[in-house]
Amino acid sequence: MQKPEWLKIKASATKTREVTEMLRSLNLHSVCEEANCPNRMECFEKKTATFMILGKHCTRNCTFCNVDKQKPGQVDENEPLNVAEAIKKMGMKHVVITSVTRDDLPDGGAGHFAKVIKEIRNLNQGITVEVLIPDFQGNEEALKKVIDEKPEILNHNIETIPRLYPEVRPKAVYERSLELLQKAKKIDPKTITKSGIMVGLGETFDEVIQTFKDLRAVDCDLLTVGQYLAPSKQHHEVVEYIHPDTFAAYKAQALELGFKYVASDPFVRSSYNAFEAMDSLEGG
Ligand code: SF4
Ligand code: SF4
Repeated sequence: MQKPEWLKIKASATKTREVTEMLRSLNLHSVCEEANCPNRMECFEKKTATFMILGKHCTRNCTFCNVDKQKPGQVDENEPLNVAEAIKKMGMKHVVITSVTRDDLPDGGAGHFAKVIKEIRNLNQGITVEVLIPDFQGNEEALKKVIDEKPEILNHNIETIPRLYPEVRPKAVYERSLELLQKAKKIDPKTITKSGIMVGLGETFDEVIQTFKDLRAVDCDLLTVGQYLAPSKQHHEVVEYIHPDTFAAYKAQALELGFKYVASDPFVRSSYNAFEAMDSLEGG
């Protein structure tokens, strides 16, 4: 399917290369590269990136995702410090930390997330931290390790509507993801929770709205809605390029349902304009 005009963007090789080289030198990975994110030019120029910790191999097999699905290796114990140093070099004010899913680790990597947050705060005064976490297979104790480090935003993507889970997220469970967001509020009611959905995978408008309602039922605060773009022909196909007017309609409905901040646009990714969400909270 050919991309519509509103999805055509320019690339900036220089800035992308600079950030890529710095990350390589510290043995770090960014989602921006692994997922071939269309916003790299803009985000790298604003000195923003999303770091992917716990390696680059995932134990899950989501059909939309470009991450390597191989047996993951050992956790890099230097990673927390390296991430903190890279953030310092980039002069970032708000950082997003995410990971592959590590079902092979007893705590799903939650303890490592906690160490990363700690090191970031040690080296970067005044920084705000958003974590985009896997579901830790519903393990509440693991989730608590992350929440105890008080990230400013706790993000867990629902990704798609429940009907499409078997073909899009075969090893995930829709209800478990909702419960994770609910548990986060139970552990610390002050936790700001966030979730995101991709559209264009074959869902209907009403199904998307129902997912918004499900997220609000677990008191999810912030929401992102973006166009799914297939990383290759081997990945889940793009069923539809959703028109910007529909994104605007999603935003209007989501705000009406009570989300405190909604980013809904073809280019929105869960970490895109993360600053803006932060500012909206700070500004009340
Ligand atoms: Fe990709 Fe996350 Fe799915 Fe792993 S769990 S395949 S990293 S979307
Ligand atoms: Fe990276 Fe997120 Fe920006 Fe994409 S939107 S380039 S993943 S920070």
